[in-house]
Amino acid sequence: MALKLEPSTRLVVATHNPGKVKEIAALLEDRFDLVSAAELGLAEPDETEATFTGNALLKARAAAQASGLVALADDSGMSVAALDGAPGVYSARWAGPAKDFAAAMAKVEERLAETGLEDRAAWFTCALAVAWPDGPAVVVEGRVDGVLTFPPRGTKGFGYDPIFQPEGFAATFGEMEPAAKDAMSHRARAFEQLRAALF
Ligand code: IMP
Repeated sequence: MALKLEPSTRLVVATHNPGKVKEIAALLEDRFDLVSAAELGLAEPDETEATFTGNALLKARAAAQASGLVALADDSGMSVAALDGAPGVYSARWAGPAKDFAAAMAKVEERLAETGLEDRAAWFTCALAVAWPDGPAVVVEGRVDGVLTFPPRGTKGFGYDPIFQPEGFAATFGEMEPAAKDAMSHRARAFEQLRAALF
């Protein structure tokens, strides 16, 4: 079976976040008939895997099996070299139920200070998985490297953007125009790979 997606295929996006569905629709160039897991009333599985690709696959497979439709899921986060890759798949969880990213960024700074290391290398990863209800799946990953800088700078982004300076830029993701970030982000790179793999 060739794993290709025909235009206008009905595709479940395995997220309950309406912002994410909109962003994904744009990145897929409105090529498919998208419906969200929330609209179909599907349960959100726990993200129990240790890798971004593992969690993206787990979410896509759960949505495909529950809906009988082809499903797309993502998983993303920030990894810090001196923290052995943390927060990584726990990026959202470090911000707590209140989604307090000022606290999460302060925690990264504190943990870095505790290591006594000078290394400020970090990267964002985005994994994307597409799963078919009868079993097959494709998973890809995009990554953008940079360094961490404190205190946080910029209000244009979200999450950890204000402490992340991508390689070759003086601005943080929080200071960059959204279009500039979107052109080079881990998410854009993952979608490039997905388009190459499936279209
Ligand atoms: P997910 O929704 O489970 O994939 O969690 C992703 C988490 O990683 C978000 O809550 C953010 O904290 C973080 N993250 C992912 N992508 C970005 C980004 O582009 N900028 C800043 N933070 C990000």
